[in-house]
Amino acid sequence: MGNRYQQKPDADNRRKRQPEVSKPTMMRVVQNLPPPSRLTPSATLRLQRTIGNQAVQRLLPQLTLTARVRGVVQTKLTVPNRATGLHVTRSAPTGVIQRYAAREHVRFGEVESMITPQEKKHTVKPDSPIYHPVETGESASKIATKYGISQDFLIARNAARYQVVDTPDGPKPVGFTKGDVLVLPGKTVADVASETGVSEASILASNSNTVKTWTVPITLKEFKGFDRGQTVIVSTGQMEVTHGAWASQATGQKIIKIQGIEFTYGQVIALGGDLYGDPEHMFKADKTELEALKALLVKEAKDPKSVTDDDWDLATGGRYLKLAEVNTSHYGPHDPALTPVMSKSDVNHKSEWEKYHRQALVAAQNGDKDKALGTNAFADHFLTDAFAAGHLFNKEDVMARFEKKFDAKAQETFFHDVAYSAWSKVGDKLDKYETYDTTAAKHWNISFPEYFQQLLQGIYADKDGKGTVLNMVVLMIHDDLNKQGVEVENQKGDKWSLSGDGKLNDRSLAIGRQAVAQSQVNVLNSVGKTSTLDFPALFKSVWDFTPRPTKSGVKLIDQLISRTTNPANPKTVRAAVDIIVEKIDIILKKLVERKKLKKA
Ligand SMILES: [Zn+2]
Repeated sequence: MGNRYQQKPDADNRRKRQPEVSKPTMMRVVQNLPPPSRLTPSATLRLQRTIGNQAVQRLLPQLTLTARVRGVVQTKLTVPNRATGLHVTRSAPTGVIQRYAAREHVRFGEVESMITPQEKKHTVKPDSPIYHPVETGESASKIATKYGISQDFLIARNAARYQVVDTPDGPKPVGFTKGDVLVLPGKTVADVASETGVSEASILASNSNTVKTWTVPITLKEFKGFDRGQTVIVSTGQMEVTHGAWASQATGQKIIKIQGIEFTYGQVIALGGDLYGDPEHMFKADKTELEALKALLVKEAKDPKSVTDDDWDLATGGRYLKLAEVNTSHYGPHDPALTPVMSKSDVNHKSEWEKYHRQALVAAQNGDKDKALGTNAFADHFLTDAFAAGHLFNKEDVMARFEKKFDAKAQETFFHDVAYSAWSKVGDKLDKYETYDTTAAKHWNISFPEYFQQLLQGIYADKDGKGTVLNMVVLMIHDDLNKQGVEVENQKGDKWSLSGDGKLNDRSLAIGRQAVAQSQVNVLNSVGKTSTLDFPALFKSVWDFTPRPTKSGVKLIDQLISRTTNPANPKTVRAAVDIIVEKIDIILKKLVERKKLKKA
């Protein structure tokens, strides 16, 4: 709390650039307070006690106005030593929010038609047919021995040429005739099964149209098998992803049951991170809450504008916005090419995804497939966040960069500009409220931009309020990137324009779905697997799909962050003004609920 709070709300102290207080406001001011220019010294003192100066330090820091921008962000008013978590939000009018809309997360989960049983082609060796012309007196046994094959199998394969005579004691074998050309058989189903490590039943099931049945005359012993060079389909029992641009047209979702309620896989992606902090919390959540959230997810998918941040927050008892405050884990890892590493933060969407994907894999190994898939869907929230342009950078680094430049002088200029710019739009509303508690037997109206500036400065002095401003800076970058799009590439050789939250494009969807499908396959293939899993390789198989900015993308982000983290940037001021103007009703409502303000 510096001397800057000591500034008298006096006309003389107003800066030159201060806009005029609107006339109607000035006229209403008299309810409780004289306008600053007409304050007597004692009135000034009372005013300072209640609203300004020390009062600002005493009262206003308690009114933590967390005006987080763009949807995720919210206006929060808290009182120290009392219950926290009074959050209010604005709805996201433009869809430009700090997260993919729930419906977009849901779409990423639509990958069922991309996942198929893994099938390998197995060629029966030796792969060229061998024909054997029978010589005089050459027995089946001799031929079989010559080629190292079973006599019965040889006879069965060439049954049509095998001579049998009827005798009074029944049919007797004669054998092959000189000049007969025999086909040397390939492999039996049992042979192929043991060569490929799958069961005979599986080989039979995968090759029902091509497997041949040969019968030995007289004994009627049967052989099922394949000729040399024949291609046999081997289902490995593992699953695999069919990749390709067509993934944007993929259909079908896995069903995940939580507390008996059926969610689609994509719906759980949407629940993860944004609505539940960790998978355990989600699995044990209250049934009524889960049902309410499911209803909202369904509603939002039908009409994006039908569900607001308030709805999500209400349905989660305020948790949604609390989680939104600490959403660093939804942003990218440190990347000095984009912005210098200035924070020690070690959470990001990659670390978070790996943490939960690992949990899912372990659950799969333990045989709990449902839990494994549910956990994986939760994990994939962070995977799909990596497919948002506005989430490519490290959030903490950006906030630290701005904070470093936001010294006392920068703060004063900034909040002055914000308060005076917003005043013409919110002054009327602020003026209709007065302090709930009395000072000097009076309730005091928030009647002047000076008080508002002091309020804002007091708010920034508070930890939560500071977070609000820093979040706003991040959000500006986030929004710009989403609007412009960023050229990205991935380890798979894809190159495309990455869209942002609320603006998911087909290419991003297609590539993101391949990543999600691969993550599911990793889990499915680990069910009951007792051998040690190669976690880094499994992580890589999925993360290789995620985007990173190309050279030109890096340049764009680097310049944007550099520009936006400058507090003197007029765009930053305008963004703050927009937030306050948009959220003023909610700000006031919450202040009233908190018994900090009341209607005048
Ligand atoms: Zn997220």
